[in-house]
Amino acid sequence: MTDFRNFINGEWVATNQTFDNRDPVDNRLIGRIHEAGDAEVDAAVRAAKAALRGPWGKLKTQQRVELLHAVADGIIRRFDEFVDAEIADTGKPYDLASHLDIPRGAANFKIFADLVRNIPNETFDLETPDGGHALNYGVRVPRGVIGVICPWNLPLLLMTWKVGPALACGNTVVVKPSEDTPATATLLGEVMNEVGVPPGVYNVVHGRGPGSAGEKLTRHPLVDGITFTGETRTGEAIMQAAAVGVRPVSFELGGKNAGIVFADADFDKAVAGIARAAFDNTGQVCLGTERVYVQRPIFDRFVAALGERARGFKLGRPKDPGVNLGPLISQRHRDKVLGYYARAREDGATVVAGGGVPDMPDGLAAGAWIQPTVWTGLPESSAVIQQEIFGPCCHIAPFDTEEEAVALANATPYGLAASVWTSNVGTAHRMGQALEVGICWINSWFLRDLRTAFGGAKQSGIGREGGVHSLEFYTELRNVCVKL
Ligand code: NAD
Repeated sequence: MTDFRNFINGEWVATNQTFDNRDPVDNRLIGRIHEAGDAEVDAAVRAAKAALRGPWGKLKTQQRVELLHAVADGIIRRFDEFVDAEIADTGKPYDLASHLDIPRGAANFKIFADLVRNIPNETFDLETPDGGHALNYGVRVPRGVIGVICPWNLPLLLMTWKVGPALACGNTVVVKPSEDTPATATLLGEVMNEVGVPPGVYNVVHGRGPGSAGEKLTRHPLVDGITFTGETRTGEAIMQAAAVGVRPVSFELGGKNAGIVFADADFDKAVAGIARAAFDNTGQVCLGTERVYVQRPIFDRFVAALGERARGFKLGRPKDPGVNLGPLISQRHRDKVLGYYARAREDGATVVAGGGVPDMPDGLAAGAWIQPTVWTGLPESSAVIQQEIFGPCCHIAPFDTEEEAVALANATPYGLAASVWTSNVGTAHRMGQALEVGICWINSWFLRDLRTAFGGAKQSGIGREGGVHSLEFYTELRNVCVKL
């Protein structure tokens, strides 16, 4: 059993308040998490502040870049440990953790380190009334201590997506990982020490949200900015905390993303793409598709094909051969998802596939397993269509015209992502411009170029991260005006 301690100023800090960490595959107790209280959160934030003014703040950009490359290399050197830690916390298949979570976790340090080496700055020459000139130029300076609040669905990937640019820009961080997935953030502390990142640059405090480490961190007056990935409702609470002291926020929030399949699409690719979008990571991807709209001529065929895909998954332990779907993150989350499965039946859905809890063999029966599920026949007003479920499920509805598809897709308060499947280039571009989302994929899904803007429209987020867009949040742009 692992003791997950807080990582503060380069040291491991235990507390006498602990809670259990369980493996969602079989509900086995795998660790004890040491919850940070006021004193630990305060110590972490002060350590981050001191590092900013101390050794970290004094490093040249090139030295910082080299250290962050060493962090990425350190993750890859301990690749198997990171994969095992991520698997133990989430139950996700080995293939997914080893191809997506951990490599991207390392890449997030390299891409932003390389970016800050090459940022251009704006300059303006001003002709002044006295016939002279003034030269204006921009300087990007770190924002300060960044509070990083993370979810559990892609723990290392989403955490480093924020810590990578934050550190590359010269900030220091205090990370609050999800209470369900403490392992990889903790392991990263070991890597930071191994490669010589100065104490206080990267800190981890464990705990829950309200009344615990999450809220304490967001309310700490020495935190200069808060970056958060999680539910929209949590974002509202964090925004209220950030209002005190007028601290800026960067939010990546929930979604209720639409997949739109036109009759002229490559049918097999569309089925495969929507299946990934609906079921990958057991549907626990913010970009995932829970609403599918299919043009009427291919509707029945598409429903049959996606239902077959849903029934074809192999559930089991992360490293068992052929396993391609894990459990949900916890029993608590399964209760929530099963609530929507029940609601779908009450609202009159036709259950095309799944709809309940699978029979699992002895040893796995206590895990948070759930069947991949496909429904048709629900009214658009159903909570199943309107609210984010965050499970391996989707509803498929028919549409006739492009205008109708746009109206259906846009009829939610969320606006994170969409995927559109068509072979008509005009349709593709028109949809890309009409859908109210932060990211629109055409004939693809979750195809990420880390240089591009990432974020949500409407209630799916505030701000954009990725490439140079991350600089907007992780730096202050100072203008220097020199009268010549
Ligand atoms: P969550 O909002 O419940 O929790 C996220 C984090 O916030 C956790 O670390 C939690 O402890 C903390 N927290 C909760 N209440 C808090 C408070 N009052 N103050 C400070 N911290 C608090 O989200 P989750 O269930 O962990 O993750 C799933 C959600 O994340 C889904 O809604 C999903 O769409 C969203 N998500 C969005 C993106 C994106 O990029 N837009 C990516 C991944 C996940």
